[in-house]
Amino acid sequence: MHDQLLIGGRLVSGDAEPDPVLDAASGKQLASIASASPAQVEAAVHAADSAFQSWARTAPKDRAALLLRIADHLESQAHDYARLESQNTGKPLAAALNDELPSIADVFRFFAGACRTPSGLATAEYLPGHTSMIRRDPVGVVASIAPWNYPLMMGAWKIAPAIAAGNTLVLKPSEHTPLTTLKLAAALAEILPAGVVNVVCGRGEPVGRTLTTHPLVRMVSLTGSVATGQKILAGAAGTLKRTHLELGGKAPVLVFDDVDVEALVSGIRTFGFYNAGQDCTAACRLYVGERIYERVVAELTDAVRTIKVGAQEESGVEMGPLISAAQRERVGAMVARAAASGHVELTTGGKARSGGGFFYEPTVVAGARQQDEIVQQEVFGPVVSVTPFRDVAQAIGWANDSEYGLASSVWTRDISRALEVAARLQYGVTWINTHFATVSEMPHGGFKRSGYGKDLSVYAFEDYTVTRHVMVKL
Ligand code: NAD
Repeated sequence: MHDQLLIGGRLVSGDAEPDPVLDAASGKQLASIASASPAQVEAAVHAADSAFQSWARTAPKDRAALLLRIADHLESQAHDYARLESQNTGKPLAAALNDELPSIADVFRFFAGACRTPSGLATAEYLPGHTSMIRRDPVGVVASIAPWNYPLMMGAWKIAPAIAAGNTLVLKPSEHTPLTTLKLAAALAEILPAGVVNVVCGRGEPVGRTLTTHPLVRMVSLTGSVATGQKILAGAAGTLKRTHLELGGKAPVLVFDDVDVEALVSGIRTFGFYNAGQDCTAACRLYVGERIYERVVAELTDAVRTIKVGAQEESGVEMGPLISAAQRERVGAMVARAAASGHVELTTGGKARSGGGFFYEPTVVAGARQQDEIVQQEVFGPVVSVTPFRDVAQAIGWANDSEYGLASSVWTRDISRALEVAARLQYGVTWINTHFATVSEMPHGGFKRSGYGKDLSVYAFEDYTVTRHVMVKL
């Protein structure tokens, strides 16, 4: 197992306290990863800074060639990466192998192409006698902080656009899930010039904070909670760093009376409970037209009862555990508070599973009201609330009445209504008659407290560049 940090092209052991890394499906320790000391964080930032001058001037086609090598490497070792990811997070091996790894490799392929076709305004004489042109240059050293729900995928979403654009980077994976990032770090030590990507491990405090407030860091990119985003923004203020924040979510799912109920139920069974609901876009907040509300609750409940919960490689397993005991406690406490309201019904689930690991049953909370915590706050667990609505205006009003603004979906056979509703939703993505799918070509990112950075697509490439104007007097 790879347990070394990557600093300036060298694989080194962390010099500070170790963090235990657990198998979330058994609760047993898989590894112990020593954190980076303050001196090692300093060395990683300096390594990225030293590498920046030459990397930023590498021809796009040469950067692209290296990104393609990273994609090839990921594909050639997809099974090993998927197994390691599922051992640590507890998620089904098949999900990591068949859903995540291909899309992770594709992200490197996409940005390999994107960096060769940057766009901007046409060069022209906007002032007579002067020629103006646009440059799109890298920002500098980027500090990137990743969460635990899709550790390698979030790492890829951060590394690929940043280095494709000519930046250099120091990445900190979550202290709960560093293993696949450390495996990738060992490969990057062979593929990339020294210092272009550095990987340090440790907790948010002190390692994340030391890294993200370092004066040589020009940009901080975070995927994580709103609370961490707020700390990072405050820390970035001193040196006015660019920030790129991808934070929490509470996706509304608007279900109109004419929906194909079978398709909806099958969709929510998947998109509400995938990755045990630990997904910032999870389809977790259903608003259902009054006429079909009872039917949807009954059929969804029956469907959710059939989700096969289990360990990574159990036959037919569809859902794994939560990441930690603390996360399971948090989810359980939110469901208990919802139940205590007296007006909701837990039609299925609502309990932790006994035995090892951090399992929590897939849960449906029917009859939830708009102001309930379970409707307003991110659970980040396998819990879907269902609320009946009276008319379109109420559905849209409730959907937008949220601190979050990341993802949403609209379910109806009436495409005109779907498009009208989609236009009025304040969410970074709206799916129609589906939920959840991402593609490398389209942006992922939000509004409001979900943050404002874009991952994936040319918009992410642009987020990692500075638009510059060069004017020549003729
Ligand atoms: P978290 O905020 O607790 O941790 C995220 C990362 O930030 C970890 O690496 C952590 O060590 C680091 N961190 C914590 N405090 C820090 C600090 N003061 N300075 C620098 N780094 C610090 O989040 P999490 O629990 O790992 O992940 C779950 C959250 O992430 C959820 O809210 C979820 O919605 C969000 N998320 C968002 C997206 C998205 O694309 N918008 C994707 C995945 C997860």
